[in-house]
Amino acid sequence: MATIGIVAHDQKKDDMVEWTKSNLPALKRHKLFATGTTGGAVIKATGLEIELLKSGPLGGDAQLGAMIVEGKLDACIFFIDPLTALPHDVDVKALTRLATLYDVPFACNKSTADAVIAWLDA
Ligand code: PGA
Repeated sequence: MATIGIVAHDQKKDDMVEWTKSNLPALKRHKLFATGTTGGAVIKATGLEIELLKSGPLGGDAQLGAMIVEGKLDACIFFIDPLTALPHDVDVKALTRLATLYDVPFACNKSTADAVIAWLDA
């Protein structure tokens, strides 16, 4: 069982809900953490058991970054919106940097997320 972080920017939340719906059996096998709003939307749509962190703009991305530093996160699925400027861009950058630094699989879009979940289950 792996521990997976789940995040989606506002314009990507529907995509994340769809992705979690289509990966339900695989996701049920893992421990899930998510930023507040993303996690709430996924729970509502799927009933998945997810531990909710703060909302991203309120520090949820930073919490995922801290989990990476502490060796508590095996992968992060983060559907980033590349077309919208966000107030917490620095936190997103920090999370991306820490995932890179600690060599944690970090999926920014659906095709990479598909590859990561398949790899986790291989
Ligand atoms: P949210 O945070 O799930 O609370 O919306 C996501 C983000 O924008 O980082």
